[in-house]
Amino acid sequence: MSLIIGLTGGIGCGKSTVSACFSALNITVVDADIIARLVVQKGEPVLQQIKKQFGSDILINGELNRSLLRTIIFKDERQKEWLNRLLHPLIHAQIIKQLRQAKGDYVLLEAPLLFENGLDKLTDHNLLIDINPELQVKRATERDGTSKENIKAIINSQMSRFLRLQKADFVIDNSELSLAELESAVRKLDLKFKEMVNI
Ligand code: ATP
Repeated sequence: MSLIIGLTGGIGCGKSTVSACFSALNITVVDADIIARLVVQKGEPVLQQIKKQFGSDILINGELNRSLLRTIIFKDERQKEWLNRLLHPLIHAQIIKQLRQAKGDYVLLEAPLLFENGLDKLTDHNLLIDINPELQVKRATERDGTSKENIKAIINSQMSRFLRLQKADFVIDNSELSLAELESAVRKLDLKFKEMVNI
């Protein structure tokens, strides 16, 4: 397996933007959020276990009712733990499969909750996209068309900025960068990661 770099950061910090820059350089990005949706897509056997636990309203025409599920697990920590115990092994297995299939000198694993969910066990190094909290709230609010309170509640449910900064090996400070400067920061890191593999 090639070098695996975790890509993480809080809501609205710029992960998707950075990930698109790496993709444009032909770097494979394995996206934990996409995989989390894939393992519960229509027809997956695991949906029957979810239905048993939460009742038949949790499926609509065989599709997972995500907003109902979010509401339930937001209110009930034990249900959240039950769901995580069920889904995390499936998500991990799929992530490992996609990482193994990746070609190239290195591969990125993009995950908003990389550290929180222990996905950093799968990575060799971790890249954090960091921005100051004021800008984070502004960008996420504008992007999602939602309230500041909503975004702040999500920020408070994620790992603190301080802890993330302690855990990361590489940091892009996306507070002051234009998009062109961000692209250039990614190009520099791309060279560094390739150098790390080829020394
Ligand atoms: P989430 O975890 O919520 O999916 P994210 O970390 O993937 O968020 P993005 O969607 O990449 O964050 O960025 C949030 C918003 O900020 C987007 O609208 C994006 O276009 C914008 N943005 C990102 N970086 C910059 C930048 N350097 N300058 C201006 N806008 C930026």
